[in-house]
Amino acid sequence: MGQERTFRSDAIILSRMDFGEADRLLTLFTPRYGKLRAIAKGARKPTTRKSGHVELYARSDMLLHRGRDLLIISQAEMTEPYLRLREELPRTAYASYVVELLDRFTTDEDGAESAALFALLDVTLRRLCGEADLRVAARFYELRLLDAVGFRPELTRCVIGGEEIIARDQAFSPVEGGVVCPDCAAALPDPARQRTVAISQRGLHALRAFQREPWERVSALQLSGLLHAEIERVMLGYLVTLLEKRLQSVDFIRRLRAEE
Ligand SMILES: [Zn+2]
Repeated sequence: MGQERTFRSDAIILSRMDFGEADRLLTLFTPRYGKLRAIAKGARKPTTRKSGHVELYARSDMLLHRGRDLLIISQAEMTEPYLRLREELPRTAYASYVVELLDRFTTDEDGAESAALFALLDVTLRRLCGEADLRVAARFYELRLLDAVGFRPELTRCVIGGEEIIARDQAFSPVEGGVVCPDCAAALPDPARQRTVAISQRGLHALRAFQREPWERVSALQLSGLLHAEIERVMLGYLVTLLEKRLQSVDFIRRLRAEE
């Protein structure tokens, strides 16, 4: 991270918590510095002009100042309120999932890929405010996020044998990070086989579309409720496994499942 004492940045607010008497500690995502923690002074006083500009999931133009120990928000001007994400419960749940996933897959002040991740987060929050199917927006986001952080699932070749997958029902291995052909799945030793999940030909076809096709094509797909449930199960299984390996922390996914 650069050493300038004061700098300006676009920022999306991932989370916020009370800090001291009247302040808030915010987790921000920025295009240049990735994830940052910063203090919004006086943000809990309703009279503070700044308080309206540090809303959860909103995008703001900020002037940040490096204090002795902490980063301080000197000015904040909201540029994209994404209001529906705070006002409509299903949208709130999806926004919360999207920002938490980003939070779990990134570390503080890691600028690598942060411009791409910021753009992905921004466009996803916009989609979650719009008329698209929220499930489609979430799946599309998951696959693009995994690309950016280096965990793109393998959907065209068997992750055990390496041969090209032909069109039929398959298994997905969250541990190996991709599709396993029925022959290799049958040959797996027991604990590993038990951890694979079934994925239908149509489910695989849908996930490939999410991974490869642009949003305009993906958002026009007509998927049944069953198919949505299937690909969500596959994706959550994979994400949980990655986060278990990477961060030993999957409480938020469990929470999401319990809320369903
Ligand atoms: Zn195979």
